[in-house]
Amino acid sequence: MSKKTYNVESTNSGFANGISTHLANKITKEGTIDVELSANEKEEIIIEAAEAFGQFLDALGVDWRNDPNSSDTPRRVAKAYVNDLWKGRFEALPGITAFPSDGYDGIVQESGIPLTSMCSHHHQTITGRVSIAYIPGPNGKVVGLSKLNRIVEHFGRRGAIQEQLTVAIHDAVATICEGNVGVAVQIDATHNCVSCRGTKHQGASMQTAKLSGNFKQDSNIRNEFFTNISIASRNN
Ligand SMILES: [Zn+2]
Repeated sequence: MSKKTYNVESTNSGFANGISTHLANKITKEGTIDVELSANEKEEIIIEAAEAFGQFLDALGVDWRNDPNSSDTPRRVAKAYVNDLWKGRFEALPGITAFPSDGYDGIVQESGIPLTSMCSHHHQTITGRVSIAYIPGPNGKVVGLSKLNRIVEHFGRRGAIQEQLTVAIHDAVATICEGNVGVAVQIDATHNCVSCRGTKHQGASMQTAKLSGNFKQDSNIRNEFFTNISIASRNN
């Protein structure tokens, strides 16, 4: 069974929660979403971003060039953004193999998927857990469970606001799990921009959920989704 590449991007390229303009331009040029940036293209982005971050430190009055702990910081920060923190902006979602559901018509759910993201507003870390569920339709498809983790990484590893991130993950699962009769996504996350700046309140977490199809229409199915999340959190 061959892998299929899906267009799951719902935000304009160039936006902090979209793909980078470099990747978008390459997709336009090559006429397919099945493209990736080469190592050289990523290195060019790192070099340019490092130079700009050095200027940012200059503006803050940091003598980073003469500080052994900071002299390579602009490049370190640029690499961290491209390779880890905002990795999902620079890479397309890998192709996904979907399998026939073979008559299974219950909830397929993965709870407690680790989330590391960054808020678009303040570039502070967001950490939490994502729970994803879908129900295959009569001729629906199921995907390998780890693909749900990959979807979380794809959208989490870029700038985000939690509300939009919840929708982006929901819509990607709805697109990839063809023929589904409902998708549910719940995120529980803490935001460093709340605990480290502004009010500096520790311990508050934010819950968001996006439900569609049978999860939205049928309260029993909706309750099963949220009960599964509680069961999973007790087991962890
Ligand atoms: Zn923020």
